[in-house]
Amino acid sequence: MPEITTRDTVILGSGCSGLTAAIYAGRSNLKPLVLEGHEPGGQLSITTLVENFPGWPEGIQGPELIENMKKQATRFGAELRMAHLSSIDLTKHPFELNTGKEIIHTRTLIIASGASARWLNLPSEQALIGYGVSSCATCDGFFASGKEIAVIGGGDSAMEEALFLTRFASKVTIINRTERFRSSPIMLERAMAHPNIKFVSNTTVEEVLGVEEKDVKGLRLKNRASGEEYVLPVSFMFLGIGHIPNAHAFKGLVDLDEDGYILTQQDVHCTLDGKIIPGVYACGDIQDRRYRQAITAAGSGCMAALEVEKYLEEHGR
Ligand code: NDP
Repeated sequence: MPEITTRDTVILGSGCSGLTAAIYAGRSNLKPLVLEGHEPGGQLSITTLVENFPGWPEGIQGPELIENMKKQATRFGAELRMAHLSSIDLTKHPFELNTGKEIIHTRTLIIASGASARWLNLPSEQALIGYGVSSCATCDGFFASGKEIAVIGGGDSAMEEALFLTRFASKVTIINRTERFRSSPIMLERAMAHPNIKFVSNTTVEEVLGVEEKDVKGLRLKNRASGEEYVLPVSFMFLGIGHIPNAHAFKGLVDLDEDGYILTQQDVHCTLDGKIIPGVYACGDIQDRRYRQAITAAGSGCMAALEVEKYLEEHGR
């Protein structure tokens, strides 16, 4: 029989929002349990320099920021644990989380499972993940040393990845599917000013070449205006095309929007069929499709923890 434990609050996810919630819940003496998912530390843990988090005038490396947050959360009594949930029951109270080895009853739940990298979903791309196709420049940049590579996307992620990858690659080509760049002007200007970064606009990737060799040999590209197809010889393709929310486990348990983001009311309250589920909150990138910043994730994590505190006070903790 799995062991049964009871908690005041459980936080699902250990990115910026989950850890901020843990710091606040910890300081309220709630001894929060943080269950780290399949991407511990979230997106910040695979990013490079974070230049826009207030308080770090020279910027801070994403993994260092996350490590600091973890230390801060554990200092206030948060417990961090690696676990994957096999089931979640929000119909009974306390809510029931099953890890397979343990059943956790919790009076409140904060969902902070974030978002994961988006893929093009081409069969050739999927076949070559780990063989020259990557969504994590920080993790795999080193393997692109001395090579000509491509970065897909036109947002800040793509610009940041491309700039980072110039440390390793001999040439970086950014491929954007439209003429319009979604990235902030400062990032775009920096990338455009770099001598080793080239841009290809209004172009889609039709195929990643090299499936048989199990090694990226190039990209078959298509110019959307002319319909012309041609091969760009590169040895690596990095994706920087945004993220999708990690909310599949919550389908049917809480309301999601058409793209799978958790819909919240009054900022962080989860709902089912439009009605607030008392004691269940969502914060960070899993419910924020608009801002998606580390600082907004931290802000909503704080809000979720304050709601937990209020709920437990009102329900005679
Ligand atoms: P964005 O949603 O801003 O940009 C995604 C990019 O990928 C767009 O150019 C989009 O094209 C393209 N894209 C999406 N799907 C596909 C597809 N299937 N095929 C080809 N291209 C595709 O995501 P980001 O991850 O870049 O940024 C998210 C947020 O994080 C932003 O708010 C950004 O400012 C922030 N950020 C900040 C950083 C910093 O300050 N250092 C670093 C990284 C991110 P289209 O425009 O045609 O939809």
